[in-house]
Amino acid sequence: MSSVADNFASVRARIRAACAKAGRTEAHVTLVAVSKLHPHSAIEAGHALGQRHFGENYAQELRDKHAGLSTLEGLVWHAIGPVQAKNAKYVAKAATWFHALERLDVAQELSRRRTGSALKVLIEVNVAGEASKAGVSPDEARALADQVRGLERLELVGLTTLPPLEADPRPHFAALRELSESLGLKELSMGTTGDFEAAISEGATLVRVGTALFGNRLP
Ligand SMILES: *Cc1c(COP(=O)(O)O)cnc(C)c1O
Repeated sequence: MSSVADNFASVRARIRAACAKAGRTEAHVTLVAVSKLHPHSAIEAGHALGQRHFGENYAQELRDKHAGLSTLEGLVWHAIGPVQAKNAKYVAKAATWFHALERLDVAQELSRRRTGSALKVLIEVNVAGEASKAGVSPDEARALADQVRGLERLELVGLTTLPPLEADPRPHFAALRELSESLGLKELSMGTTGDFEAAISEGATLVRVGTALFGNRLP
């Protein structure tokens, strides 16, 4: 068993190497440590190692961790899972970033509930058109982008995807990059434990890594 400190060192070294290989600046890739289903102590351990960006999938879990860890300085919360409109208030309150927008009613609720600085929003795109996956089609993403741009206290900054598991992710990452360029967006949230290096080579600006940092989650 490796320690969380070793895991962070190893993931950071791999990000550095992937950036070097792609000729990219490391400062343009943010590591979002996905702490969902891990205890508060995992976030404290990451924070002690200098990690500040954490990702959570479930709105209530985000709410509880945001409240319970409020004394940790400089934490930046990323809501990375789909949210129902009735739970949007938790995301509006706790998160700085929301990576998984796919519905206008959720965007409207986030806009209504947000106070203070604008919530940075990414639209989740199902680039491969998989029936079982979250996210909207590229055409729907264009329409949703127009609508979100009209909402107050939301700042549309980018796109997110989770590519098919069994295939080479690169063409899917490249397709997301092309779509984001055509929409004039600059943030690309793509890459998890299994494929973050490929995502960096295709332009990811936010990589969402859980298992490689914190080990397996409880089922
Ligand atoms: C759980 C999750 C991750 C992290 O996945 P790992 O394979 O543990 O790195 C990233 N993105 C989303 C949307 C997730 O749900």
